[in-house]
Amino acid sequence: MHAKVVVIGSGPAGLTAALYAARASLEPLVIRGLQPGGLLATTNEVENYPGFPDVVGGYDLMQKMEDQAARFGTSYLDAVVEQVNFSERPFQLTTDSGDVITADVVIISTGASPRKLGVPGEEKLANRGVSYCATCDCFFFRGKRAVVVGGGNSALDEGLFLTRFVTELVIVHRRGELRADSILQERAFANPKVRFIWDATVDKVLGDERVTGVQIKNLKSGEESILETDAVFPYIGHLPNTALFVGQIDLDEGGYILTDGRTRTNIPGVFAAGDVVDHIYRQAITAAGEGCMAAMEATWFLSEQEHAAHKAQMPAPETTVLGRW
Ligand SMILES: Cc1cc2nc3c(=O)[nH]c(=O)nc-3n(C[C@H](O)[C@H](O)[C@H](O)COP(=O)(O)OP(=O)(O)OC[C@H]3O[C@@H](n4cnc5c(N)ncnc54)[C@H](O)[C@@H]3O)c2cc1C
Repeated sequence: MHAKVVVIGSGPAGLTAALYAARASLEPLVIRGLQPGGLLATTNEVENYPGFPDVVGGYDLMQKMEDQAARFGTSYLDAVVEQVNFSERPFQLTTDSGDVITADVVIISTGASPRKLGVPGEEKLANRGVSYCATCDCFFFRGKRAVVVGGGNSALDEGLFLTRFVTELVIVHRRGELRADSILQERAFANPKVRFIWDATVDKVLGDERVTGVQIKNLKSGEESILETDAVFPYIGHLPNTALFVGQIDLDEGGYILTDGRTRTNIPGVFAAGDVVDHIYRQAITAAGEGCMAAMEATWFLSEQEHAAHKAQMPAPETTVLGRW
């Protein structure tokens, strides 16, 4: 199978890239991966995606994006890309069913997965008090209590943001000091709503229908205790989904794909967009914006390639001798 443009991933970045590529008549192929619709499809309510004054379901929003891109000629494949070869053209992608797909352009939008605590109750209560995105879910916890797990910049930054909504914020950190920047630490220590529990881990998330508390273990004494809360926000890092690109394109030390600010990677014709690049904003709208950029860059790249190929086929212009002196 060959496609001019193959998009790996079907989250907001991938589907927006597909929409723009399809409207440029490039008939893109989207390889959906294990999570069709991406991370947003797993969340119940999205309140901050422009254009939806009433709340929109994450799954519904992503279905709309998929339908919109399909309307202009996008095809979809339910597969996982297991291997890529960007050293030859066309590029080669091998899927989990062993199919090899070739492409003139590849747009990578495989996202990043929040690191899980991996404790009992976490999975069961996901979206029912357990959340990995304070910016996204803060509104649901107005007037409630929340726990943030972690001690880095994200934990403090998002925790401080949460204090605008919650009545109490407890930050549980496995060490006796924070890794976050000192300015964030100062703000957190000065905030009357913030309390720290040091040298401790969350061992269990408690609750049946919704989160009602967490079980905390002190790592020094081994003592266990229960802390009542309505929400748990694990902020212990994100893992970009880039294992299959190691050795193929440039990644930063955290494994995120390096681009030049215009979604171009170090391999001409390979573009990257969304959370697989962005470790700062991590929002559907920013991912979608980058998807748009990647498709526009891809369109320009292909036009230049076509123009260069066309020029190479033209006969060399004859030299006209105008006169002799
Ligand atoms: C619980 C939760 C709630 C959130 N709520 C909001 C919100 O309300 N508003 C908001 O703006 N943001 C929200 N976010 C953040 C938002 O979901 C992400 O910023 C956004 O989804 C990133 O889009 P993306 O397209 O870059 O990646 P993703 O949405 O993560 O999509 C990645 C895609 O890549 C595919 N993929 C991965 N590896 C492969 C592979 N090897 N082969 C093929 N496909 C592959 C996956 O199947 C998936 O389709 C939330 C995040 C979480 C976790």
